[in-house]
Amino acid sequence: MTAKIQKLPDTLINQIAAGEVIERPASIVKELVENSIDADADSISIELEQGGIPRISIRDNGTGIEKSQLEMALTRHATSKITSLTDLQHVTSLGFRGEALPSIASVSRLRLSSNTEQTNQGWTLHWDGGVMDRGIKPVAHTQGTTVEVLDLFYNTPARRKFMRAEKTEYSHCEQTVKRLAMVNFDVAFTLRHNQKTAFTLPAIHDNANRLDRIANLLGNTFAEHAVFFEHAHENMHLYGWLAAPTFSRAQADLQYQYVNGRNIRDKMISHAVKLAYQDVLYHGRHPAYVVYLDLDPGAVDVNAHPAKHEVRFRDSRSIHDFVRQTLKRAISELRPAKLDSENIAKLSSFVSTTHVKNQPLFRPGSGAALEQARQLYSPHIAES
Ligand code: ADP
Ligand code: MG
Repeated sequence: MTAKIQKLPDTLINQIAAGEVIERPASIVKELVENSIDADADSISIELEQGGIPRISIRDNGTGIEKSQLEMALTRHATSKITSLTDLQHVTSLGFRGEALPSIASVSRLRLSSNTEQTNQGWTLHWDGGVMDRGIKPVAHTQGTTVEVLDLFYNTPARRKFMRAEKTEYSHCEQTVKRLAMVNFDVAFTLRHNQKTAFTLPAIHDNANRLDRIANLLGNTFAEHAVFFEHAHENMHLYGWLAAPTFSRAQADLQYQYVNGRNIRDKMISHAVKLAYQDVLYHGRHPAYVVYLDLDPGAVDVNAHPAKHEVRFRDSRSIHDFVRQTLKRAISELRPAKLDSENIAKLSSFVSTTHVKNQPLFRPGSGAALEQARQLYSPHIAES
């Protein structure tokens, strides 16, 4: 007799989905902070205990969830963000699949509290192993939402086994918050671990001050060597910070890419950046950069990965060319961030030995200029 085919129970379906979306505490931090950003919060506070496994709590001051919708928020494939295929093809929110909250709730004990009004009277519900426990109760809560996730993977021991040391899980969570903070400048973030504040980032409303946050998150040395660039062509807009070749790295560990506000890692973009830097970097060295690419939402398919770490471009060739050409031009215009006396000495001897006195040192866009720049920078390649 052949085995009987039957529909899986909802909790198991959610646990299977959680296998793809919720790999570790950092995945929960990503999904919940993204929900807060989608809810227009401008202040988000993240609290973790012991790397996030016993407790993750994320509170925002966003729009909140109506009492009558709280249970729906935890239902699989329930979302307020899209209603049709056309919406999916032009999605501008970070979430749209309606599976984060039910997936998280199926592998933890989850408390969802929210208030949509400017009062202190909200509502809360508790889920335990994917089912609601004790109904919806009143709770003191200002406008916004708090999601508390307790005892992650308590009911899925196979997944729990893959958890690393507290320190490792925490550092993944911290990286996740940093990556989100490096693009959502107008949102204030606070991250706490084991009752200690790891960082507080005030909201930044003036674009000129964005580099302060970048310096805070990536270090002052990167910020000192980084130059802002920006270029738009047709529906593509590329901007960000490029580190001068003096700040190249031994590893590709300071490379951040964003597409339409989403932190991703894309081979095509990495390749285009690599080509743009190749004339000014030694073989084996890696550039440091933060680049933001904004496109018409219809030009990119964000539904390519359950955890949304990847996207698909409808016309990747023209995007590759645009990124490569824009960055190549920007790099050719880079000046050393600081010319200290030693550099100036090298600079003048370089000028006299190559007979280019009285000519501009770096002519933007010319191949010879890039070669001059490469030679000048070479002795100063930063150790990393
Ligand atoms: P998605 O984000 O893909 O829509 P989720 O499972 O993450 O799916 O969330 C389900 C729904 O719950 C969201 O569409 C949104 O309406 C609501 N929601 C979740 N988190 C928040 C929040 N922090 N503030 C307001 N609404 C929220
Ligand atoms: Mg979501």
